[in-house]
Amino acid sequence: MKLNKDNYFSAEANWQYMSVSQYKDFLKCEAAALAKLKGEYEPFKPDAFLAGSYVHAWNEGVLEEFKQDNPALYKKDGTLYKKYANLDDLIRILETDKLAMMALEGEKEIVMSTELFGTPWKIMIDSYNPSKGRFADLKTVKCLDDKFWNGTNYENFIEYYGYTTQIAVYSEIERLVTGRDNYLEGLIVVVTKEDVPDKVVIGFDTDMIEFELAMVEANLPRILEVKSGKIEPKSCGKCEYCKSKKKLTEIIHYKDLVI
Ligand SMILES: [Zn+2]
Repeated sequence: MKLNKDNYFSAEANWQYMSVSQYKDFLKCEAAALAKLKGEYEPFKPDAFLAGSYVHAWNEGVLEEFKQDNPALYKKDGTLYKKYANLDDLIRILETDKLAMMALEGEKEIVMSTELFGTPWKIMIDSYNPSKGRFADLKTVKCLDDKFWNGTNYENFIEYYGYTTQIAVYSEIERLVTGRDNYLEGLIVVVTKEDVPDKVVIGFDTDMIEFELAMVEANLPRILEVKSGKIEPKSCGKCEYCKSKKKLTEIIHYKDLVI
């Protein structure tokens, strides 16, 4: 298939190509990732998801179309309902910041694909600016200071949500597609969903890219075997999908509950 912006998120594209979000899905829970691919499971999308879509539509310059496609966000007078009212603040906070706007400058939603570690990948870059030597991805998060327990240690939101993996894969695929020797500077522009939104532009380094790519290379063979049905997916037992499929087989002792 010829990949473009319209079919990028289609089931066919997801079967044919690996993507960073699919890769992260498989690392989180193979059973859920596979069920999602097969269309047997659709993850719950909270309002948090909406804020991301809203600022992305703004960045792409299609906010008017987004508003028409999502009339439920608006009152009859055309203003946002109270619970969504700060979505416009997120945009304002970025629009009035020179550095954030410079980072977001460029062509929007650029689709690229190429082979990486023996399998085709697809990426979609929020803001692509090769003439200035950079690309950027736009994220909305709850707040900048959140820390997350990964089972071994605490991580910041960039590490926990795998944004390092995203920057690494995007940098490498862009490099392979264009045939350049060096990486573009990959940036993440973050705006928070707090009542008074905060913002930050985050940069990375080549060591991080090399480390993350080595992780992808190591994890990919198993993921591809599960995806192609050669081996059975493992269930994490904790995610929404696993909870929805859970059948009780034993009584557990109260001390076995995690505190
Ligand atoms: Zn699971």
